[in-house]
Amino acid sequence: MRIDLHAHTCVSDGTDTPSELVRAAVAAGLDVVAITDHDTSAGWDEAVATAHDAGIGLVRGMEISTRFRGRGVHLLGYLPDPTHPGLLAELRSVLDGRDARVPGMVERLRGLGLDVTVEGVRRLAGPTAAVGRPHVADALVAAGYVASRGEAFDRYLSPGRAAYASRAAADLETMLAALAAAGGVGVIAHPWGRHDPGVLDHDGLAHLAGLGLVGIEVDHQDHDPASRAELREIAGALDLVVTGSSDYHGLGKVDHDLGCNLTAPEELERLLDAAAAAARAAGRDVPAMIWPRPEL
Ligand SMILES: [Zn+2]
Ligand SMILES: [Zn+2]
Repeated sequence: MRIDLHAHTCVSDGTDTPSELVRAAVAAGLDVVAITDHDTSAGWDEAVATAHDAGIGLVRGMEISTRFRGRGVHLLGYLPDPTHPGLLAELRSVLDGRDARVPGMVERLRGLGLDVTVEGVRRLAGPTAAVGRPHVADALVAAGYVASRGEAFDRYLSPGRAAYASRAAADLETMLAALAAAGGVGVIAHPWGRHDPGVLDHDGLAHLAGLGLVGIEVDHQDHDPASRAELREIAGALDLVVTGSSDYHGLGKVDHDLGCNLTAPEELERLLDAAAAAARAAGRDVPAMIWPRPEL
């Protein structure tokens, strides 16, 4: 059973359509894939329809930009009711913040003598629900200033670089509550990605577990073997679900091929049980977790 619980489409900053993602997951030999675009469920319907036809398990999720104790944290939200008003309002404010950030970055780049425009960035972004830094990076690549998104981030767009602009993100604790109210569950994405544990050390994660956090993404390309081992130990101590995933972005990110990290079937089972409990506690119908429901 091959399970990958974190993948993006062109609805956010990946390059595959939701249908293409599902077909790529089949081609990669996956049994279950999650669609987790940034701050939106806009790709779910198309992905569900294709998964139904292709006979692969699909978990509906999103990767939400949040802030916890002063640091940006990505929260994977699985199986919430995407029409829940409280959750929708939180996501709307994140998307608005992301959109408002682009003009600031473009302004700074223009100040550095680089000829990029907000219109150009939006044109490149296409029908995405959230225009953000990756699309500014794409504009820099298209204009020939840098060779890749990675170089654009390294030279201009990362924290501390000249064109970086910070933005409002949802408060992580508020978002966990909103997810729960919508009958979903939260898993911290790549908690130690490219950083020290920082606020997401044992104490920080214990605090969040007490607020209903269900799991942490341990097996991720941004974690070295030592980090994975340590995170696995913390997850065990805090009874958190351990997930593994690719963080696939199509052609938008190298070394993140579908299935390059996997989630164990029993961990997915725990995640789905927690989601069913959350839906029941929120007084909502327990959603079809996955279609088709595989034998785990
Ligand atoms: Zn992320
Ligand atoms: Zn991601």
